[in-house]
This record gives sequence, C-alpha cells and structure tokens, in this order.
Amino acid sequence: MTPDDFRSAGHELIEWIADYMERVEDLPVLSTVAPGEIRGQLPVDPPEAPEPFAAILADLESIILPGLTHWQSPNFFAYVPANASPPSILGELASAGLGVQGMLWATSPACTELETHMLDWMLAATGLPLRFRSDGSGGGVIQDSASSSTLCALLAARDRSRGVDLHGLRAYTSEHGHSSLAKAMAIAGLAPHQLRTIATDAEHALRTGALIEAIATDRADGCTPFFVMATVGTTSSTAIDPVAEIGAALGADIWLHVDAAYAGVAAVCPELRFVNAGLDRADSYVCNPHKWLLTNFDCSLLYVADAAPLVESLGILPEYLRNPATDTGAVIDYRDWQIPLGRRFRALKLWFVIRSYGLEGLRAHIRRHVALAHELAGWVAEHPDFELAAPTPLSLVCFRHRGGDAVNQAIMDTCNRSGALYLTHTRLDDHLVLRMAVGAVGTERRHVEAAWRAITVAASTE
Ligand SMILES: *Cc1c(COP(=O)(O)O)cnc(C)c1O
Repeated sequence: MTPDDFRSAGHELIEWIADYMERVEDLPVLSTVAPGEIRGQLPVDPPEAPEPFAAILADLESIILPGLTHWQSPNFFAYVPANASPPSILGELASAGLGVQGMLWATSPACTELETHMLDWMLAATGLPLRFRSDGSGGGVIQDSASSSTLCALLAARDRSRGVDLHGLRAYTSEHGHSSLAKAMAIAGLAPHQLRTIATDAEHALRTGALIEAIATDRADGCTPFFVMATVGTTSSTAIDPVAEIGAALGADIWLHVDAAYAGVAAVCPELRFVNAGLDRADSYVCNPHKWLLTNFDCSLLYVADAAPLVESLGILPEYLRNPATDTGAVIDYRDWQIPLGRRFRALKLWFVIRSYGLEGLRAHIRRHVALAHELAGWVAEHPDFELAAPTPLSLVCFRHRGGDAVNQAIMDTCNRSGALYLTHTRLDDHLVLRMAVGAVGTERRHVEAAWRAITVAASTE
C-alpha cells in the first residue's frame, strides 16, 4: 500500500466508521450469532495473493459487524462503559500512524514528555493530591489496564518488603474488590490464602473495623500485612470504600492502593470530588479514562506517591538499552514503570480528548450520565414492583424486581435478546441484581427512558 493508496483507503475507512457512529443506535446491541458462526465464514487458509482494501472493508461490514456487541451503542448499559469518542479514535490513529515505541525517553522524547504532562493535566483536572505530581518523588504512567496498574503497585509493595518471608505477606481488599487483585497475587507468586477478603457494610463498602481486626489477627500470627486495596466504585455496585478511614488505620509499612478504575474520572466535576476523599494517604491510585472519559481502550492512569519502589521493582537496564539520557538520570524511562518493555503512544489520544472537549466538555459528559442515572433510580424507586439494591453515587443503577432471582433473570434475558438494550447483573446480599451503567458517549434521556420501558414491559409479562 503506497501512501496514496493509504490515503484513499483511509478516507473510505473513516467514512465507514462515521457511518457506524450514525447507525449503531439501530443495531441489536448484543450479537445474536451462534458459536463458530463468524469463523465459519472465514477462509480456512490465509490468502496467497494480495487482496484489495475494498474486499477487506466489505467483509468487515458483512462478516465482522454482525458478530459484534455494540459497546458504542447508546443502548449499551452492561458492565461498565468503554467510551470511544471521535477525538480519541483520531488520536489512536495518529499513534498508529507514527508507530512509535516509547519504552525509553530516548526512543521518542515527545512520547514520554507528553505522557508525563497528560498525567499532570489529569491530576489537575481531577483534583488529585500533589504527591502524585511528576515534579516530586511521585508521578504517573499510562498503563494498558487497571489490572496491570494494580499488578505494578502490588509488585512495588512486595519488593519494598524486602527481607520478609514472602509466604508471610498478607494483602487485603473487600469482598467486592476487583478480581484483578487475585490475579495480580498469583502473578506475584503469592498464594490465594495470602489475600484476605474483608466483609462489607450495608452499602457494600469495606468495613474498616473488620480490616483492622484482620490485620491485627495476621500480625499476631506472625504474618506481615503489606498491601491494602481500597475501591472507589466497585464493579458490582460502585460502592465506595472509606479510603480516609482506611488510610488512617494503616501504618506506613502497609501500601495503600486505591482502585478507582471506573469511578475516578468523575472527579473532573468538582461536585463529585468525594471520590477523591482520603487519597492523600494513598501510595498508589488507578483510574481508567478508557472507561468513562471519552478515551478508547487502552488508557489506564497509575499514580504513585513515590516512584522509587516501583522503579526498583520493575527497572532493568541491559547493555543494549544504555543511552546518555538514561545515564544522566534527568529523564523518565517508562519501561521501568510497567511490565512490558515496548509501549504505545497512548498519551496522544488523551491529549486529543482533553483538548477537543476541554474540561467543560468532560464535565458535561460525566454530569449528563450521573443525572440520567439518578433519574432512572427515581423511576425504579417509584415503581411498585422494583426496588433499588444499592446507592447510586454516580452513574450505575443497581435494582431488582421484587419477584425474586428467576424473575430478574427472565427480565434481563428478554431485554438482552430483544437487541434493544444490553444490561448485565451482579449478586448483592445473595440476590440477583440488575445493573444499568449509564455511560456510553451517545446515551441520551430517550435511550434510558426506552430501556426502562422495555424492562417494565418485560416484567409485566413475567
Ligand atoms: C474495570 C475495573 C477494573 C479492571 O479494569 P481493566 O482496565 O479492564 O483491567 C478494575 N477495578 C475496577 C473497580 C473496575 O471497574
């Protein structure tokens, strides 16, 4: 493909994506294909001869599109949002177009410096504590996912506890803490029983008293508590752990990691800064613009109050990567802040997003969803057959039909099969609970209204 061919194929693809944005609302949200149906349409062997771009694009439309769940549909209310806004798509395209590897400052100074700058911009935009800013001992880095961010924090905390018997280490999170911590423990060579899950209160947030007790019991047993992960906005129900209270209860020898993967970006709105309460004690903090802040996957921000333990844990300098800039110590080499060596130029899309929307636009995006979720929560509360199953601090509404688990399951199945909307479930207090996460880029009031109508209609036929 010559640059000229690229130009015409690129225009075609951009047209196709723009059309997709316009019609995604009318597509069934959840794909209805059977297992194997997509592969069955693909040639068994790769083509020997080059194919024209038009043929690839035609198959994208006819084979791939029907096999998609449309995360960008305004009727997508499942899991958590995965925003892909036009400016972020263009930023991603620019990143691919430049094809830069940003493992070292020297391998593309702008890649590192724009990233550091975006982390400081996001810190200012969300009112994070200054200890996470890059001009002190701490700073931030863009990772591929919150899972990786949490793993990096866990490794830094583990290695900071040098000299301690690894088998004696104990980590803690609430029973609604994200499963990525359990996975990180396994990768870090720690056994499942070394992660303690702490009971939650009536609002599904970690009970600090139970945490303090567990830590004391483990200490009395000769173990070494080293890591606590508090969650701001659990995946189940956006429960918010009492981070300030937890931080105050921990000695400096225990690393406090705060997982705000979904909810953290809400802090662009001053009135939602309650999500930052207690962060001034946190050793590390993660939030994902790639969920609810108009930035397409992947873009997870990891902040540390002190970068030294992270770099000590993950830094390595083989001869073939030696360079004068690294030797001076005057630059950041982000490969020392993450698991892989290679790294994508992810800061570019965040830069495109922040500049295209401005902080005003980012706030409007979050506020619209929070307002819609609160409206939806009001409709649930008023309905005689439904009840709210958890508070709605942000944009996730957890509710259930009073008729029991089977009825809720049937309502969800009917709605999802219809293609008109997509919602998922969780379990709270041993009840099946329906979740509607309002957060797609195009979701407006009419979509939430139609979804609620579909749910109540499905309920009335149960
Ligand atoms: C989504 C989510 C995660 C996992 O995020 P990835 O970026 O997909 O790894 C972790 N914790 C919470 C609270 C989340 O909402």
